[in-house]
Amino acid sequence: MQFLPGVGPQRAILFERLGIVTLEHLMRHYPRTHLDARHFVPIAEVKPGELLTVDAVVRNAGAVRTRAGRTDFTATLADATGRLPVYFFGQPFLARTLKPGTRVVVSGELDPVEKRMLNPLFEVAEGDVADLLHAGRLVPVHPLTRGLSGRAMRRAVRAALDRAGAKVRDPLPEDVRGAEHLGPLAEALEHIHFPADAEQLEAARRRLVFEELFLLQATIAIRRQVLHVESVGLAHLASGALAKRAREALPFRLTADQDRALSEIVADLRSPHPMQRLLLGDVGSGKTVVATLAALHVVECGRQAAFMAPTEILARQHAVTLTAVAAPAGVEVATLTGATPAAERRALSARLASGAPMIVVGTHALIADRLELPNLALAIVDEQHRFGVRQRAQLAQKGALPDVLVLTATPIPRTLMLAFYGDLDVSRLNARPAGRGRLVTRIAGEEKLPQVLEFVARELSAGRQAYWVAPVIEAGGRSEARAAEAEFERLRAHPLLRRFTLGLLHGRLKPAEKVDVMQRFVGGEVQLLVATTVVEVGVDVPNATVMVIQNADRFGLTQLHQLRGRVGRGAQRSVCVLMQGSATRARGRERLQLMASTQDGLALAEADLRMRGPGELWGTLQAGMPRLRLADLARDQAVLAEAQRSAQALVERDPHLGSPAHAELREVLLQRYAEPLQTALAG
Ligand code: ADP
Ligand code: MG
Repeated sequence: MQFLPGVGPQRAILFERLGIVTLEHLMRHYPRTHLDARHFVPIAEVKPGELLTVDAVVRNAGAVRTRAGRTDFTATLADATGRLPVYFFGQPFLARTLKPGTRVVVSGELDPVEKRMLNPLFEVAEGDVADLLHAGRLVPVHPLTRGLSGRAMRRAVRAALDRAGAKVRDPLPEDVRGAEHLGPLAEALEHIHFPADAEQLEAARRRLVFEELFLLQATIAIRRQVLHVESVGLAHLASGALAKRAREALPFRLTADQDRALSEIVADLRSPHPMQRLLLGDVGSGKTVVATLAALHVVECGRQAAFMAPTEILARQHAVTLTAVAAPAGVEVATLTGATPAAERRALSARLASGAPMIVVGTHALIADRLELPNLALAIVDEQHRFGVRQRAQLAQKGALPDVLVLTATPIPRTLMLAFYGDLDVSRLNARPAGRGRLVTRIAGEEKLPQVLEFVARELSAGRQAYWVAPVIEAGGRSEARAAEAEFERLRAHPLLRRFTLGLLHGRLKPAEKVDVMQRFVGGEVQLLVATTVVEVGVDVPNATVMVIQNADRFGLTQLHQLRGRVGRGAQRSVCVLMQGSATRARGRERLQLMASTQDGLALAEADLRMRGPGELWGTLQAGMPRLRLADLARDQAVLAEAQRSAQALVERDPHLGSPAHAELREVLLQRYAEPLQTALAG
């Protein structure tokens, strides 16, 4: 970068702050948007309300000192039709550039009061206006950093394109480009920054979005190929006797969906190819039972199954559930978390390392380096969006090509599913188990608080339990915990609630404290649980019939849906109250109304994606994957489907990208997607 004209060592540091180290990085530093400054008019026709461009000559110019002590710059431009004053705040050095007699192209809006252009885009014009960079064209607006101006960025990009635009290696193989009717990469890079018109820009954008999504999809297809198709692990040819015994002891019958999902999983377990499967089911749809029965299948073959949960509370809760299901089959379920006492941990580790057939439930403790699971045959990862690809792989690495089952209650929009889980097979649980009471959702303004409290008190008196999600002031951290504490104190002192037992749960409690309060809630001693969004995932208390969420408009739909799923699990009618702050904007209200109108998690997730973008799901879905720079998965769905089809076909033809025609692709993938690909392409 530093050898680019106009850059140098000083500025190179600024570029580096934006992650730009090479000329290719710079050319791939795509504009956020373009300003359309192509409308040239004679000065006489300049009017307010529109971005207009004039091609004129500087008449008089000079610095002016303002009363505030700033030095500004002002000039008058002229053409055959009239004169136009322009004014620049705090840029006296422009006197060196905009000298009288200079031809300049200026793009801006006329200030209706001052009748001049304020801080317009400008460029000293020497030749053809087609060569302009900063004004009088579709002007690229790049992401910048302090100390680096848009002009400096545009100049650098221009210089990089001139020097190296034709040399950037194109990761897309010739045949793919041909089939997709994609032009040369150099042209796309030129036009994404400096398009002559909207068509060029759109074509460039499509080309680069396709490339981005193609690389992601190729990575996923290769992962699938290597981890699933080509790998040969163990075939678990159990008779299913243990699972059958456990199933017969269940206090309920599996739903048809559960039954089908279990058959799909068992078929994978029986096949020698390692399973890579996602079990997707709304909150409370009964994934845990299905996973446990699957675990019994491998235990019957004399092997181990590990069940990894994202939090201590959930691990403990799962341990209870799994034990209840597995006990009638005579199978042991052990628990391993950060809170497991050292002596117990040592004993358990030794037994796991010895390969004793069993089920182990735990947290991140399961992927700790020193824990050995040589006989691990089935890795179950719950609530996967909290883990991501990396942890999934880390757990799987404990065994020799174990089967992997990922459980998620997060409804994932179809688009994101395609983009991020293309390497997994999917089983779905759609129906809610029978015998559940109705779940209704109500929206209430702050002024309804007394009625809400009365309602909660009535339910508690009737022997039910309730959740109270405290307002979020600032997500995460100390203030969230403090808000929950304040809410807890307020409610505890409230005349309507004084006679009930309240519990407090937030992220800053010690693990043992969290477990304690949760156990008291599960046991029914704590009647009202005041919590932050810690309760979001997986907690199962069928006797809880009320969920009150403060400042609900601050949450995403997906998150609200998860919270709501904590109630409606028992036979009683349940109510979810979405409290809306007084300052709620139309957008927030619209979201809450949508929540009240449907319980279809997938519909909500798709609406969330449309309304807020991938948002909270994003970081976690992308964990271990490079950021998408240009593609917008809400908008580019069609391109995504195309890229996926194309990438899959290519990987089918050439699974290891060994063909010389794919050398470029292979190299770029290894560089950019090193982590998710891991050893898949090496060697
Ligand atoms: P998920 O993990 O999908 O959120 P769980 O497996 O925790 O759901 O199940 C939620 C509750 O429903 C548990 O109390 C479980 O025992 C119960 N359950 C599971 N399957 C059924 C079923 N087929 N019929 C009735 N209750 C069920
Ligand atoms: Mg669950």
